[in-house]
Amino acid sequence: MKRIVAITAVFIIALAPVAAKGLKGKVVYVNPGHGGWTINDRPHATMNYEEMDTMSFFESKTCLWKGLELRDRLQAAGARVIMSRTTNGWVSVGDKNATANDREETYADENGQQQLITLFKIASQVDSLNPDYFIALHSNATGGGDGKKVNYLLYMYRGETGNDYAKGSIDRAMVAYPYMWDNPLTVWTSSSLEDKYVAGDLTWMGGTPPGEANALGYTGWLQVLKHRVPSFLVEGSFHSYQPERQRLMNRDYCRMEGVRHFRGINAWFGGKPEKHGYIAGTIKSADETINDPLFNYVDDSDDQWLPLNGAVVYLLDSRGVKIRHYKVDNEYNGFFGFFYLKPGRYTLLYDVPGYEQLTEQVVVTRDKTTYCKPRLHKNYK
Ligand SMILES: [Zn+2]
Repeated sequence: MKRIVAITAVFIIALAPVAAKGLKGKVVYVNPGHGGWTINDRPHATMNYEEMDTMSFFESKTCLWKGLELRDRLQAAGARVIMSRTTNGWVSVGDKNATANDREETYADENGQQQLITLFKIASQVDSLNPDYFIALHSNATGGGDGKKVNYLLYMYRGETGNDYAKGSIDRAMVAYPYMWDNPLTVWTSSSLEDKYVAGDLTWMGGTPPGEANALGYTGWLQVLKHRVPSFLVEGSFHSYQPERQRLMNRDYCRMEGVRHFRGINAWFGGKPEKHGYIAGTIKSADETINDPLFNYVDDSDDQWLPLNGAVVYLLDSRGVKIRHYKVDNEYNGFFGFFYLKPGRYTLLYDVPGYEQLTEQVVVTRDKTTYCKPRLHKNYK
């Protein structure tokens, strides 16, 4: 009798993790959009760099930054993550636009890591592996010219609006949306929590239902979604909105987007909240506006103020000890961020030569981002 009890106990312990809610053991496929340094990887000039300079904006690069942080957060929560690629500079076999910086995609690079670009190859792999979740990361652009004052969040799933061909796609997007919307550092121009842009790809792109079937037999519009797994492609913001493009030039700003994607996926699986919190902000002038042909901002919005390149933001703990600092980049975004902070009270000290010093008390809460938007007055003394 004793022996049977012992065996039963072991059996229950072994089963417990499988039955538990959350991301543990779940398989998530992350597809950072695009992949190379070609003209088709959405290159754009920025205030400091010319178009096609690898230091300038490439959607392929920024989508990867988001995806790598998402991967890290998912893995920390116990998920198994499959990445279509983990580095930049990969193109489909025979891509005529490939540059000297690009290599042809492969199922195993020198580290044994796949670097897949061709959308059909990715869709085929997703269909055969059948992960619990699939997400394609992108940013958006307006048609007909750069620099339009348009910036919204958009989720697209395979099918018609209100009719997801892979059932569960709409539900996943609706759960994720509020987490991604929580970004007061950008300037949204439309869509909202009340009017979520969660759409069928055929409806949104103007295709005729049920769309063209791929070789696997799946219909729809977006090639990367033509598989059996409930999924979506998310346009996190518009890189054609120039102030947002300057923000996307900062890797940590993109990492914060990765964190927000993680929260949406974690919520879907009913996972535990992250134990740590985050601070993210933008530091700008209180007196000076920005005027540049590559920075067409929304009138009267936060984007009118000059971002303070090179500013230093100090993080002080509750005893007033400087524990970290962040040096703002020179890309006209003013972004600063502190990741993986213990919940509690902190002080931020903003120190920029030529400006009046400013301090701000903040509270960091687990699983949340505390946003700050300090603006500093010029010091005329
Ligand atoms: Zn894209």
